[in-house]
Amino acid sequence: MAETLIRGGTLLAMDGTAATEGDVLIRDGVITQTGGGLGTSGEVIDAEGCLLTPGLVNTHHHLYQTLTRAVPTGQDALLFGWLKALYPIWARFTPDHVACATRIGLAELALSGCTTSSDHLYLFPNGVRLEDTIHAAADVGLRFHPTRGAMSIGESAGGLPPDSLVEDEAAILDDCIRVIDAFHDPDPGSMCRVGVAPCSPFSVSRELMRDAALLARDKRVRLHTHLAENAEDVAYSEATFGCRPGQYAQELGWTGDDVWHAHCVELDAGEIGLFARTGTGVAHCPCSNCRLGSGIAPVRAMVDAGVPVGLGVDGSASNDAASLIDEARQAMLLQRVSRGADAMGSTEALHLATRGGAAVLGRDDIGMLVPGMRADIAIWDMRSIEAAGSWDKAALLLAGPRRVRDLFVEGRRVVASGHLVTIDLRAEIERATRLVAQLMA
Ligand SMILES: [Zn+2]
Repeated sequence: MAETLIRGGTLLAMDGTAATEGDVLIRDGVITQTGGGLGTSGEVIDAEGCLLTPGLVNTHHHLYQTLTRAVPTGQDALLFGWLKALYPIWARFTPDHVACATRIGLAELALSGCTTSSDHLYLFPNGVRLEDTIHAAADVGLRFHPTRGAMSIGESAGGLPPDSLVEDEAAILDDCIRVIDAFHDPDPGSMCRVGVAPCSPFSVSRELMRDAALLARDKRVRLHTHLAENAEDVAYSEATFGCRPGQYAQELGWTGDDVWHAHCVELDAGEIGLFARTGTGVAHCPCSNCRLGSGIAPVRAMVDAGVPVGLGVDGSASNDAASLIDEARQAMLLQRVSRGADAMGSTEALHLATRGGAAVLGRDDIGMLVPGMRADIAIWDMRSIEAAGSWDKAALLLAGPRRVRDLFVEGRRVVASGHLVTIDLRAEIERATRLVAQLMA
C-alpha cells in the first residue's frame, strides 16, 4: 500500500470552503484524508509555506502544434489565414514530430500545475496515429483525454484545408472505433479516455458530424469540436449551412452533457440558453482568442446561465504558450476588460481551471482536494519571488507563482522541486530543436 503525506501546507480544496492549514494523505492514487496532524509510515513531503490546489484541467489543446510556435508565416493573420499558412507545415509531420510535440507540450502543462489534459489531434499525415500522443502522455505521466479528430472537406470541395490533409469519412469512423476499443478506459481514476472530435464545421461534412455523434453515443464516449470561434466562423456557418453555429450543432446531435465545444466566442444569448439547457460544455481559450484577435467569449453570461465552462490553452501555434495557470489569469482579466473589475475573481477563475474543467470532461473523480478524489495535486511555493508580499495566498492568480514546486498525478510525483522527473526534458527539447530545424529547412 503506497502512502504519501504532504505535510503543513495551505489547502485550497475548491469545494466551496475557505483555505485552511493542514496535511493531505494519499494512498494508492487517492486522497484518503485532509486536515491537521496526520501521520504516516510512508513518504513525507514538507509543504511548509506552500499552497496546495487540485491539479488544473486543460480542456482544449492541439499538442502536435507545439513544434510550430511563433512561425513567422501567418503570425498576424486571423483564424482562417493563419490555418492556411500552417497546413503545409503540418502536412510534413511524422509520428516522431507528434510524439515529441506531445511530450514537450504536456511537460509545460505539468510545470504550470496541470494534471489532466485533453488533446484534439485532427490530422494524420505520414503514418501519424492517435496512439503517438497516448504513449507520449503515459511517458510524461499526465491524465489524458485524447480525441480522435478529423478533416474530410478539402479545398477542392469548398473546405479550408489542402486536399492532402483530409481523410475518407468511412476510414475516419473506422479509426475512431479502433482507438476507442484499444485505449478508452471509462473506470474511475482512468488515465486515458478517448473522445470523438471532427475538427470544425468548416473542415468536415454534415454527414460526418452526425455519424460521429451517433458513434460516440453508441460507444459512450464524449464529443468535442470547435464552434463559433470568431465572426468569420459564424459567417461561414450562415453562408454554408444557412444557420448559426448553435442551430447547426443542435441539428446534428452536437448538444448534450457528453459534448464540449472549444472557443464559443460568438455564442449569442439564445445559444447560451441552449447550451445551459442541454448541459453542453465550453472550453474557453482566452490567450488563443487574444492571439488570433477572435474576441472575448461571454464567459460571465455562460457561467451565470449554468453552462459548464472549463479552460484550454489551445494549440501552441495560436497561443503560443501552454501555461494553464496563465490561462486562468487571462480568463479572469478578459472578463474584467469586458464587464468590469467585479466580473470575475481569482477563486472563480481557478474554479474554471479545476472543477469547471473536470465537469467539462465528464469527470467526478478530479478537480477538488477532498478525500475520495484522485490524488492530482499542485503544490505552489508561496515563498517564491512572484508571491513575495502576498497577503492572500489563496488569490494565486493575482500574484503567483506561475510554476509548481511539486505535482502529483494519481498519487505519483511528476514534478519535484520544480523539475519534471518522469522524462529527460533537456533531451526532449534537443530533439524538438532538431525536428524544427528539419521542418524549417
Ligand atoms: Zn483549437
